Formats: sequence, structure tokens, C-alpha cells
Amino acid sequence: MTVPIRNHDIAELRRLDLAHHLPAQADHRLIASLGGSRIITRAEGSTIFDGEGNAILDGMAGLWCVNVGYGREELAKAAYDQMLELPYYNTFFRTATPPPVKLAARIASKMGGHLSHVFFNSSGSEAVDTVFRLARHYWKLKGQPQRRIFISRWNAYHGSTVAGVSLGGMKAMHAQGDLPVPGVEHVMQPYLFGEGFGEDPDAFAARAAQAIEDRILEVGPENVAAFIGEPVQGAGGVIIPPEGYWPRVEAICRKYGILLVCDEVICGFGRLGQWFGHHHYGVKPDMISMAKGLSSGYLPISATGVADHIVAELREKGGDFVHGYTYSGHPTAAAVALANLDIIEREGLVERTREDTGPYLARALATLNDHPLVGETRSLGLIGAVEIVREPGTNKRFLDKEGEAGPVVRDLCIRNGLMVRGIRDTIVCCPPLIITHAEIDRLVSIIRRSLDEAE
Ligand code: PLP
Repeated sequence: MTVPIRNHDIAELRRLDLAHHLPAQADHRLIASLGGSRIITRAEGSTIFDGEGNAILDGMAGLWCVNVGYGREELAKAAYDQMLELPYYNTFFRTATPPPVKLAARIASKMGGHLSHVFFNSSGSEAVDTVFRLARHYWKLKGQPQRRIFISRWNAYHGSTVAGVSLGGMKAMHAQGDLPVPGVEHVMQPYLFGEGFGEDPDAFAARAAQAIEDRILEVGPENVAAFIGEPVQGAGGVIIPPEGYWPRVEAICRKYGILLVCDEVICGFGRLGQWFGHHHYGVKPDMISMAKGLSSGYLPISATGVADHIVAELREKGGDFVHGYTYSGHPTAAAVALANLDIIEREGLVERTREDTGPYLARALATLNDHPLVGETRSLGLIGAVEIVREPGTNKRFLDKEGEAGPVVRDLCIRNGLMVRGIRDTIVCCPPLIITHAEIDRLVSIIRRSLDEAE
């Protein structure tokens, strides 16, 4: 079915945007100086179109989420059918509806063995809030209420709610909310290029994991509820840890009986070439948060995967777990998520990312290594980063001296027809899993051209 292209009055939309709309995570003075936001009007496949008619390759899959690409009629149909049958009902009063029940079983089959239950929410932040509440509740049920502390990493991103910001390691976000809440400890991130430049990757992995154990010992293992981490840190700059890091983190958690939580909001649903990021690293978390690729962003839905031993505690001890949202288990969002998983499976997008497009992206990004502004390229599956440096062969940054280079190169990329993100001195990409080789070539050639223009 071809969707008619609607004409929008872009000047009027930009006027209304400035007059009435406060966009999320934005510098409102900057947007005002630009005369309003860029209006994106439609999208198809891996391409978005703005109000001026520019076609922009979406190197970010929206916000790390549109895994199956844009324009999927069957997702619209799934929402339409479900809305007519039962648009909404809740799960508060010992009720459930068919789509979230089926979706829970489907997600459980993807998570594997010991993770066989899910709790639904609408956003990644809420999925993380559920982790926060459930972990502390679990330890109370277990008779260890003093286990309240969460260990997380600097520059982690776990969302924008109070618990999400607190568990996250973004200092600017902490500063704006007098956060973190008490009981959250941050340790170094496993950022080899930034914090272990020139170091042996395995020695660095051991050092980064040791920082976790040191902090556990400092605060007392008996007081620690959980460690939380993104398998690959996304918004922190696509930090791909050395392979030995996660198994060490898991061993430390087991040694002290601490819950291991993987925030899979970006890494889940094929991004790293496996259904979940922790599958790539071969660890067994006690809880995982997921969102984004679960519905490819077509409707808001998220989930928290919960290990059997935690569910057993809830079932054995009983009493309400007084946590949940109006839209927990939203039937229409769940129906869309089910249809989205159908597409991922039918088109083999996880395997394709692992065996074809992921390695292709890695090779294509590596061609940028000869550029004088490039210090490193790295990727895993279809998430990648280009480090911009002042001197080739070093990790010397612009941001120390002349402001951040990432946003400058990002703006050039957008002007040249590619949506990427600039995080400090790093350009990051996270395209839809349907991206083609030709589109990956274009993505990389636009980054090169933009780096040339930035020189
Ligand atoms: N956790 C991670 C790892 C994320 O990347 C994000 C969002 O980017 C979140 C949590 C928060 O998700 P949401 O923006 O849907 O609340």
C-alpha cells in the first residue's frame, strides 16, 4: 500500500513548535535561535524525510530503536486490529489481555532458560525503575533489607526518570535533579580508547572489573543489591568493553551474591547480532531491561525480564508488589511488538546483523582509520563509533581545548544527508537492522566527507 504524501505547512509547524512545544532533552535557547525544531514528516525503510523535502539516511534508527525500519504496514495493521478488538485494558486487578501474555512467553523464549518472566512498562526508563523497585523488594523478601546499594558506571545511560538518572552515570543529568538518590555508587566505565589507551585490552578489562569489586568491598558486600550495566554503553558513546570484562563482572556478582542486571534497552532485539547483548558476552543476568527494538519504536512498550529465583521469592512470600503503570501490558503496544518480533524472525535480522551487515559495517568504518581526524573506529553488530582526535595515533581530544568535535561533525553529517549523533568527541551510529550494504557505504562516505569539511 502506498501512503499518500501529506502536505504540511512547515513554517506554521515551526512557529507552533516554538510557541507551545518543549522538545525532550533539548537546549531550548538553541532551538529558539534556530527558529524551531527540524520537522520530520515521513520515513521509509532506512530513510527519513524532513519538511524541506530532504532525504536523510537514518544512521540512528530514530533513537536507537527502529530496528525493522520505517513503513511497515503489518505493524500498523496489528495496531488497527487490536484497537478495534480491545484497545486497552489493564493488568492491575488480576486481569490480563491476550497480547501481553503471548508477548511475555515470546520474550521468555528469546531470553533463555533462567529468565522466564517479564514485567511490562512503556519506556526504557520505566523498565529500569522496575529493576530498581524489584531488586530492593526482593532483598527485603529475602530478609536482607540492608542490601539497597546499586553499583553502576560513569556515563551509563539508564533513562530519564529519577531512578534512571540516578542509576545512570551522566553528571550533567545528576546536577539538574540533585541526584543520584542515596544508595547508588558509580565506578569507571570499560572505555579502552578513553581510559585505557595503549593498555592491553584484557589487562584493562581486569582493571575495570576490579573497580567494581573494590567498590563492593568499600561499601560492604552485604549492603549491595545489584550491579547494573548496558552490555555496550550506548548514549555514553558506544563503549564496547573488551571481551573479558563481562565474564569478570558476572563472577564478581556471583562471588558476593549480588544481582546482575543488564540494561538491554539498546542492545536487545538484534542490535549486537544476538537477541540480547548479554548473549554475546555469555553471561546470565538476574534481570534485564528492554524497550526500543521490542516494538521498533512503533508504539511505546518496554519490559523487565526477571529470573526464576526472583519470581520464586515473590510467589513464595506473597503480598502485593506495589509497582506498575496504567499502561503496563498495554494490549495494542504488545500486539505491535508481537508483529515486530515476527518481522525480525521472518527476515532473519538478528542473524543478518551478526553474519553480514554487522561485519560489513565494521569493515566500512575501518576504512576511515586513515583519516587524520580519526583515532579509532569500533562497532559490534550494528552499533558503532568513530573517535575524533586532534593528533593521529593518539587519543588527544578536541573537547579539552576547543569544545566538542562530535556535534560539529554531526551537524555536517546531517547537512550531507546522514543522521548520526555526536557525543563529546565521538560520532556514533546505530542504523535500522534492515540497512543495506549500499546504505552502509553511503553512511561511511558521508562521515568521511563531513570529517573532511570539519578539518
Ligand atoms: N536504558 C538505556 C540503555 C537507554 O539507552 C535508554 C534510552 O536511550 C533508556 C534506558 C531509557 O529509555 P526511554 O528513553 O525509553 O525511557
